[in-house]
Amino acid sequence: MIEFKNVTKGYDKNKSDALKNVSLFIDKGEFVFLVGRSGAGKSTFIKLLLREIEATEGSVYINNFNVSKLSKKEIPFLRRKMGIVFQDFRLLENKSVYENVAYAMEIIGKSEKQIQKRVPLALDMVGLSHRMNHYPHELSGGEQQRVVIARAIINNPSILICDEPTGNLDPETSYEIISILEEINRRGTTVVVVTHDREIVDTMKKRVLTLEDGVLKVDDATGRYGYEV
Ligand code: ADP
Ligand code: ADP
Repeated sequence: MIEFKNVTKGYDKNKSDALKNVSLFIDKGEFVFLVGRSGAGKSTFIKLLLREIEATEGSVYINNFNVSKLSKKEIPFLRRKMGIVFQDFRLLENKSVYENVAYAMEIIGKSEKQIQKRVPLALDMVGLSHRMNHYPHELSGGEQQRVVIARAIINNPSILICDEPTGNLDPETSYEIISILEEINRRGTTVVVVTHDREIVDTMKKRVLTLEDGVLKVDDATGRYGYEV
């Protein structure tokens, strides 16, 4: 679960705050879209969740932990609870699909046996078993994004954060990616998707949070894209 209690974040004293007194609660297992114009505060929201930055005022809770109370040593453990999917894929070009996903397990010290068991399951989940030994440049954009998703879920995060996951993809591929995220959510992971894709938001009928100039303007349970372009 994610909770913001009266969170304000200012970067610059001479400028308006990037987030202004934002309070919200996202329960375990929810699927939420976060929308808003460029500069509305979406990246700031994500960086607060990852504790890349700290709130100026208020508190951020993840799975009941106040993230600003975590010590330096505890932060990596917080981040392991979260899977992250960015728009720009950032796969390792010299590693195969299998190796890209396996690498996320290696760096946290999982055994070869665990890796060999889990990686094929994750690739199956995103429909990429047949591309296991291919390299990123041999894949389409949608396939690369599937690898990124497999990598993000390989260590069983409780929360999956996706920043414009369909930003570079055509509409049909975008829907395929969103249905994979929906399936991951169905299996129990909380999913937060930052997006500009009005059509997807309106079609999916999920909860939509709308930020406007740092203010949480709309929290709509029935899924409507919350501002006019
Ligand atoms: P979004 O992701 O919705 O585009 P951001 O969270 O990136 O919005 O930005 C919100 C506001 O905070 C903007 O006015 C932006 O210019 C400002 N901002 C973001 N990051 C910084 C930073 N590192 N230093 C100063 N201002 C920043
Ligand atoms: P916006 O959401 O405002 O359009 P981006 O999604 O491009 O902006 O980036 C949001 C923030 O996340 C930026 O500060 C960027 O440096 C960071 N970022 C983007 N992609 C990655 C990544 N793959 N790994 C780590 N940080 C990233």
